[in-house]
Amino acid sequence: MNTKEHKDLSQLCIHSITTKPWKIEEAAKNFSEVGVRGVTVWRDALEGRNIKQTGKMLREHDLTVVSLCRGGFFPHKDVSKRRSAIDDNRKAIEEAAELGTSMLVLVCGADPSQSLEESRKQIRDGIAAIIPDASAANVKLTIEPLHPMYADTRSAINTLAQANDMAEALNSPWVGVAVDVYHLWWDPFLEKEIKRCGENGNLMAFHICDWKIPTTDMLLDRGLMGEGCIPVKQIRSWVEATGFTGFNEVEIFSNAYWKENQADFLQKIIKAYKEHS
Ligand code: ZN
Repeated sequence: MNTKEHKDLSQLCIHSITTKPWKIEEAAKNFSEVGVRGVTVWRDALEGRNIKQTGKMLREHDLTVVSLCRGGFFPHKDVSKRRSAIDDNRKAIEEAAELGTSMLVLVCGADPSQSLEESRKQIRDGIAAIIPDASAANVKLTIEPLHPMYADTRSAINTLAQANDMAEALNSPWVGVAVDVYHLWWDPFLEKEIKRCGENGNLMAFHICDWKIPTTDMLLDRGLMGEGCIPVKQIRSWVEATGFTGFNEVEIFSNAYWKENQADFLQKIIKAYKEHS
């Protein structure tokens, strides 16, 4: 295990949704003031804004725009819905390029009215259809496997092995995977699969938070690192052992934390990052 201490914030990125009550302009100012250097922007934070100017504003606050969240949701039984999903992903790629980020995170989707296998086939076809757009825009597509509790409607890709299989089958420099500890911590093959995507050059993003005990909401009760049962430091050591030098992205959806004073919450994020990741 990597015993190196991580006390600086140079690799800390925070997702805009983590501090959802803040407008993106407020988040930029507040992140920057405390020394955070990366931000991943959720598309809802861009509503009603000029995307290019927003990207410029973020860079003026010394923030790297790590990625845009999110594209995906490819599978639909209905072919016209599959086509509009592809159109929406093309739009997301354009938005990522305008924002000045080189990565679009994919939450791949699932349609419960068909088999998971069929949904996975549609995901593969959907990603294949947008690879030329991604290449033209210089935007990488990262497949984020989601915890199996979301296999009904959010993602038919639920393990890192499945994401790795998909990325390898697509075999494109524009497609990789995102490792999110919330979705993958339970997987007995996690270390092996992290090594696999690292060796293939497919490991593109690393998301952190914690799994609270008990978790009271399947979506909106994520914890700060150290608050639950995920061995974040250990997983980070596996990620870094592959040579990954990207950002550690704090992605917390939490009704409880969104109700708090966000400046206090930001301090808690930094403390948790220094002590437990
Ligand atoms: Zn994530």
